[in-house]
Amino acid sequence: MRTLLRIVGVVWTILGIMNITESPSMQAGAKSLIGPEFVILFNVVLFIIPGLVLAGLGSLIKRKSAEKKCPECAELIKREAKICRFCKAEVAE
Ligand SMILES: [Zn+2]
Repeated sequence: MRTLLRIVGVVWTILGIMNITESPSMQAGAKSLIGPEFVILFNVVLFIIPGLVLAGLGSLIKRKSAEKKCPECAELIKREAKICRFCKAEVAE
């Protein structure tokens, strides 16, 4: 899931870069209704930023999943913990 999210993010980013380089308005001599500045802006906002966020989100989720919520006191404790460090309750795996 995390890996998939990261792959999607990277692919999305590459797609955005490809859209910029492959865009007709970026090719010499081509006259288009939308200028190259718009194509770059459009793709950066729509593809590259979400792509990078998604790719970065993968590592964020990974970091977050290293912790779990204590069923007794709802504090975040380490996933490997067997006893909650806040309320000392036994925590199931
Ligand atoms: Zn607790």
